[in-house]
Amino acid sequence: MEEKLHVVIGLEMHCELKSNSKVFSTGKNSYSDTANENISPVDMAFPGILPVLNKYSVEEACKMASILHCDITKYMLFDRKHYFYPDLPKGYQITQCTRPVGINGYIEYDLSNEIKRADITDIHLEEDAAALDHMHNTSTIDYNRAGVPLLEVVTEPCFRSAEEAIAFLENMIKIYQYTNISDADTKRGQVRCDVNISLANENNEYVTPRVEVKNVNSLSNIYNTIKYEEKRQKNAYLNHTEELVQETRRYDEESNTTIRMRTKVDAIDYKYFVEPNIPPYEISSDLLDKITKEIPELPLSRKQRYLNEYNLTLEDANTLIKNKEISDYYDECIKLGIDKIQAANWVTVNILGELNKDNSSIKDFYITPIYLKQIIDSINNNTISSKQAKEIFNKSIVDKKEPKEYLKENAQISDESYLRDLINKIVENNLEQKQAYLNGRTNLFDYFVGQVMKETKGKANPNMTKEILNEVLNK
Ligand code: ADP
Ligand code: MG
Repeated sequence: MEEKLHVVIGLEMHCELKSNSKVFSTGKNSYSDTANENISPVDMAFPGILPVLNKYSVEEACKMASILHCDITKYMLFDRKHYFYPDLPKGYQITQCTRPVGINGYIEYDLSNEIKRADITDIHLEEDAAALDHMHNTSTIDYNRAGVPLLEVVTEPCFRSAEEAIAFLENMIKIYQYTNISDADTKRGQVRCDVNISLANENNEYVTPRVEVKNVNSLSNIYNTIKYEEKRQKNAYLNHTEELVQETRRYDEESNTTIRMRTKVDAIDYKYFVEPNIPPYEISSDLLDKITKEIPELPLSRKQRYLNEYNLTLEDANTLIKNKEISDYYDECIKLGIDKIQAANWVTVNILGELNKDNSSIKDFYITPIYLKQIIDSINNNTISSKQAKEIFNKSIVDKKEPKEYLKENAQISDESYLRDLINKIVENNLEQKQAYLNGRTNLFDYFVGQVMKETKGKANPNMTKEILNEVLNK
C-alpha cells in the first residue's frame, strides 16, 4: 500500500519596521539608492559604541504581538547571537531569545474564503544586517540596512501546503500595512522568510528530517521553494534517490531549485548570551493599553463584514481590502449612507479605474465620499441617468469642480409647482390646440410636451410633465 504523505511547513517571517531611526542607533531608517548614506558609528560597530534601544520599535513590536494574540512579556531582554559574516560588523547580532516580546500566539487567515489558524511560537525584535551585493569578481557591502529594526515571527509547523503558507504570508503583509508597522514591500526586500519543510504521513508522524531554506525573499520564490522541496523529499523518501538529512539550503532562482548550504553536522553554535548593554525593558500595562487603541480594524475582519453583512461578491470584497485607504474610503461611503452595493460598484469600477490610469492614491482623489454621494443620490432620485452620472464624475475630476455644480446645470426639473405653473401658461396661450385636442386630435398631446421641453431646454422631468399635462388638458 502506498504511503500517503503531506508537506509540513513552519515559517520564520522577517519584516523590516517603518521607523525614523534604527533599532539601536540614531542612524536614519530609510531606503536609499546611495550606499552607506544612513549610517551611524553604532551601525558600523566602531570601538566603544553602545546600543540605545529605540522605544518606537518596541511599541510596534508589542502591537504586532498583541495582534498575534501572544503572551507579552513583562520585561523583555536582548541577546547576542554570535557569528562571523561580512554583513555583521560587530561579530554578533542583537536579537531576542531569552525573553522575546511575545510567545504562544495565533492568528486567523483566509485561504479561498476559508478561515484557517496559524500558531505562533514567538515574535521577537532584532537588528537587520548590512546588505551584501555579489558581482562578477567583487562584493560590496551597504551598511544602510545594518541596524534596521526587524520583527521576526516564528510559526509552529502548522501549514499543510504551499498555498496555506502563502495565504498566511499575504494576510500578515496586509496586517503590517494596515497597522502601518511596515510597508512590507517584498520588492524592496522588506519581507524575507526562512522556510522549514518536511514530510509527514497520515498519522502526522514526520518521515523526513526538516530542511531549512534560508532567506527567501518573494512570495513566488517561497511558493516555488516549498513545491520543489516537497517534490525532492517525496522522491528521495519513496525512491531512495538521495539520503535525506537535516540541513540548511538556499533557493536558487535561476534553476528554481534549492541547494545545500550546510548540514546539521556543522550546525552553528551561536553562543547566545544576554546583551549586557541593554537593561531589561519593562512593558507596562499603560503602554499596552495605548498600543491596543492604535490597532485599526484588520483586513480579514473587514472582508468578513463586506461578505457577510454587506453581501458583496468575493471579488469586490477582495478588491476593497487590498489596500487600507481604499477600504477606509469605502467604509466612509457607507457611513454617509450610500447603498453598500452601489458604493462597492462605484469604488471598484469607476474610482479604481481612474486611479489605475496614473497609479495615484485614493487619498489624493478629487471625488471624496461626500462628492460621490451627491452623484449617487441624484441617480437614485431620478434627477440624472447613470450615463449622465458617469459624465459628471469625469468632468468633475477634470475641472476640479464639485459634482453639485454640474448637477444643478444638468438636473431634470422635477419641481411640481414650477412645472404646473409653466404648463398652465402654455395651455392658456394655446387654447385653439387645446380645443382641437379635446375634439379628438390626440397627437396634439405631443405638441404640448414639445412646448414644455422647449421652455425648459429639455430638462423637464418627462413623466411628471405628461402627468400634469394630462390633468390640465382634460380639466
Ligand atoms: P531552529 O532553532 O533550528 O531554527 P526551531 O525548532 O526553533 O529550529 O524551528 C524553527 C522553525 O522550524 C519553526 O518555524 C518551526 O515551526 C519549524 N519546524 C520545526 N520542525 C519542523 C518540521 N518537522 N517540519 C517543518 N517545519 C518545522
Ligand atoms: Mg531558525
